[in-house]
Amino acid sequence: MDEFKIPKSHPRYHSLLIREKLVEGFKKGMVVPEGLIAHGRGEAFDYLLGEKTHEFAIASIKATIASLLLAKSPIISVNGNLAALAGEQIVELSNLLEVPIEVNLFYRTEERIRVIERYLKDLGARNVLGSDCKKTFIPGLESSRGIVCLNGIYSADFVLLGIEDGDRTEALRRMGKKVAAIDLNPFSRTAQMANITIIDEATRALSKAIEVAKEFKKLERDELENIVKNYDNRRVLSEAFKTILQRLEDAKRRGLLISFSTHSITK
Ligand code: ATP
Repeated sequence: MDEFKIPKSHPRYHSLLIREKLVEGFKKGMVVPEGLIAHGRGEAFDYLLGEKTHEFAIASIKATIASLLLAKSPIISVNGNLAALAGEQIVELSNLLEVPIEVNLFYRTEERIRVIERYLKDLGARNVLGSDCKKTFIPGLESSRGIVCLNGIYSADFVLLGIEDGDRTEALRRMGKKVAAIDLNPFSRTAQMANITIIDEATRALSKAIEVAKEFKKLERDELENIVKNYDNRRVLSEAFKTILQRLEDAKRRGLLISFSTHSITK
């Protein structure tokens, strides 16, 4: 039988294509089963947000690229999901801005680190840390979850990460680092803890980030500083919540929401 191909006419074509990439990553040993489940949480929020890159996400992407260009030792922290979904974009961004990548895993095994490292290098990454570095720990993160490279995440002043859990973001913030996080869920601890929250799907956000990076490489330092100074993360989070509310209002207008009294729920 022929291999099943997602028809381009399918209304969820892009979403299904992204799922396939993740499943491919799983088969290659980059993604863990828990990562497949975490993706579902992201998809639900993408659906609620209308599956597009909103203006508020573009503002966060611009602040992130300006910060990466201004930072003394920036780094892109990559896990299995991020590598499987957006490996190409990460490698292009890393090479374009000369920002190193560190493979850093919640469910860490040295084997999985090496598989992801190899995958990124095969895509053309010039500077990837992970297996062959001097290791140390992020204070406050127990066991292997906290292992990082001394010359990578540990000494970075700015970290771009995505599809991460809140503990790591919180621990990095406690170390005094600035964190930009790609996360579709504006309620998540990561979204709330990050200095810059990019509320967008990771592949879309990083494709946009490449466009912005090409443009911002031509800017002067004071222009980049102004972009960072004028950025307001609370406003971005608030815009994301407003968008979800708006989408629910639209559903109500279309008669999809029936009214009921709260009394009937609490009874
Ligand atoms: P937190 O600990 O920050 O509250 P969490 O427990 O939801 O978050 P995880 O279970 O590790 O953390 O999930 C990773 C996060 O990444 C989720 O918030 C999910 O919405 C988000 N996410 C999943 N897939 C994508 C994607 N493709 N693009 C952007 N964000 C995603």
